[in-house]
Amino acid sequence: MFEIIQIPALSDNYIYIIIDKKTNITACVDPAVSKAVLVLLEKKKLKLNYIFNTHHHHDHVGGNLEIKKKTNCKILGPEKDYERIPGIDIPLKNNDEFDLGDINFKIFEVPGHTSGHICFYSENAKLLFCGDVLFSLGCGRVFEGTNEQMWSSLLKIRSLPDRTNVYCGHEYTKSNILFALSLDPENKKLLSKKNDVENLLQNGKSTVPFNLGIEKKLNPFLNSDNRSFQKMLGVSDYSSQKTFNYIRKKKDIF
Ligand code: ZN
Ligand code: FE
Repeated sequence: MFEIIQIPALSDNYIYIIIDKKTNITACVDPAVSKAVLVLLEKKKLKLNYIFNTHHHHDHVGGNLEIKKKTNCKILGPEKDYERIPGIDIPLKNNDEFDLGDINFKIFEVPGHTSGHICFYSENAKLLFCGDVLFSLGCGRVFEGTNEQMWSSLLKIRSLPDRTNVYCGHEYTKSNILFALSLDPENKKLLSKKNDVENLLQNGKSTVPFNLGIEKKLNPFLNSDNRSFQKMLGVSDYSSQKTFNYIRKKKDIF
């Protein structure tokens, strides 16, 4: 058994607290800030054991040092970003494993948004913490890596089981769905998802986590190799990679 608490931070970031209920071992994923995390730990009488960082961007590591100072936790993050993750203790690389109590995490390197980006996947708990690689109906901007890396990182995530619950770094669903609809305006599933998303947001709720199985069907980026989607976009002669590049470029200026 485990519990996950979502803390909204900055303008649209999500910080997560994972608690293994049997042992009370606790981790914080991508602390954008320290204060909200420390307040929550205090309120819940939790002792923080670890920080998990997916990548080095400030809106994911901004709380690292202050939280470490106050809680004495250990910080796990990508080996490739060793120099850029404040306070890192345990560097992680592809296929490393880490147990948080009963939750077994496997690490995947998913470059593209940044060159060192990793995600934390748990098969037994059906969890994926993917930072800024996959968002609901979207994907991260390609800052340091290449489009080729981003597409292959998304394929790696797409190969995970449909039942996986995805916890991403930002609440971007609303603008992503508007973009997805601009490509595929008549898509009934997208239109009904838009309604659901608007209802959630209007009631001050989050659209994250989301189900990977649904995402495989609706996320335009994950359908870059879908022949009928390519045809609808008018790019049926494009390779999967070229289709991904095309969609990414359109989104960058959307
Ligand atoms: Zn980022
Ligand atoms: Fe971010």
